Amino acid sequence: MSAKIQDSLKHVVALAKRRGFIYGGSDLYGGFANTYSFGPYGAELKKNVKDLWWKTFVQERRDMVGLDGPILLHPKAWKASGHLDGFNDALIDCKACKGRFRCDHLIEEALEQSAEGLTVEQMTELVQSRKIKCPKCGAQDFTAARNFNLMFHTHMSKTGADGDVAYLRPETAQAIFLDFKNIVDTMRVRIPFGVAQIGKAFRNEITPGNFIFRVIEFEQMEIEYFIRESAWEKTFEEWLKAMHHWCQMIGLKSARIHEKEHPKEQLSHYSKRTVDLVYDFPFGTSELYGLAYRTDFDLKRHAEFSGQTLDYTDPETREKFVPHVIEPTFGVERTLLALLCDAYDEEQLENGEMRTVLHFHPRIAPVKVAVFPLMKKEPLAEKAMHVFKMLQTHWLCEYDESGAIGKRYRRQDELGTPYCITIDFDTLENDTVTLRDRDSMKQERVAISHLVQTLAPKLA
Ligand code: ATP
Repeated sequence: MSAKIQDSLKHVVALAKRRGFIYGGSDLYGGFANTYSFGPYGAELKKNVKDLWWKTFVQERRDMVGLDGPILLHPKAWKASGHLDGFNDALIDCKACKGRFRCDHLIEEALEQSAEGLTVEQMTELVQSRKIKCPKCGAQDFTAARNFNLMFHTHMSKTGADGDVAYLRPETAQAIFLDFKNIVDTMRVRIPFGVAQIGKAFRNEITPGNFIFRVIEFEQMEIEYFIRESAWEKTFEEWLKAMHHWCQMIGLKSARIHEKEHPKEQLSHYSKRTVDLVYDFPFGTSELYGLAYRTDFDLKRHAEFSGQTLDYTDPETREKFVPHVIEPTFGVERTLLALLCDAYDEEQLENGEMRTVLHFHPRIAPVKVAVFPLMKKEPLAEKAMHVFKMLQTHWLCEYDESGAIGKRYRRQDELGTPYCITIDFDTLENDTVTLRDRDSMKQERVAISHLVQTLAPKLA
């Protein structure tokens, strides 16, 4: 990784903290590894992403319904899904410095070759035979690699007995499978149809410190799309297109998004085809979203483990079958990281000054409009407050009356606010304001009575 690229992530991280997007988790207590807090602007950005996703994939489609399932599922569900036995990372410890690493990442970084699909024995062999060194202390003294389950567990009762163990879900998908029958019985849905869910997932991962790329507590926006087996190839292509379209909708640069097909031998136990949408992050091209053909694996396993039938009956032919599933999955934190990296820019202005700006798509920008009185004094301030209150009923707006106008623009540029409005002495004469565009920095005069209709299409 070049120093310049590392630097660009550093700048994004610094801005995210400085401007109230993302703080380190439990900062007050010196931090708590791999947890983050979304500050006021981060929370807005996140909400805008999730609301747009829900609107796009649930509200605006007739073949989708939503679900908000529990984080704690019956422990048997995780046995059925394969997570209890197979949701592992191979970890390896450096005996010298006690550093712990994901063995596949250690191999991939040291040898620049993929370690996917290798057993722990094969990985241990590779680390030893290729004399891989500890990235922390340089020693060549590793333990054997061992599998660690990624699920966090907790206890349901006060006894703490082993039998009371429950797991925090490592993916939202299983809650959808568990409610498949309830939804079919209550919602008059017909195949093909999908169920969408947004919610937290937890994975006890070792992370290499790429900010919020890999965290232990994160949100997923997932869809299980139920189909007949014969339709899987066509449906897979449709969802791949829909995922690219989503990336465009939130304003990610398409040149930075690529498809990565998983080779057959590296597919997860439930998948017959997986394609990742990968993004050119500053630390390398890595998974942003995933699309998997999960076959009928999950429904069949839950039918087997619960002893219930999860057949779907075709309302016309009365034919019974277990549906197959296409799963598009979108990580919220990775979306935010991609958005921040994509939008971040440092630009030289005509007067030689530099400005830092986030070129967010107006659709997802946390603050849509900032309103400034040219000066703090009356009657400018009163007029500006009137404009602010009018716009506030439509969008999240900010009111700022302190400091030079140039400084106030710079502050909003760093937040990615698409439009700024200044109330000046001309406003008092003719009821017009200046509307300043974040990207072009051009200003136009707009009548106050036309502001909402001028802004609405620009912010849609
Ligand atoms: P990776 O290979 O990076 O571990 P994965 O293939 O295990 O990811 P999935 O199980 O397909 O990921 O999870 C679906 C989505 O959830 C991912 O595409 C990603 O956006 C997000 N995601 C997964 N793990 C994490 C994590 N630890 N932190 C943040 N987001 C995550």
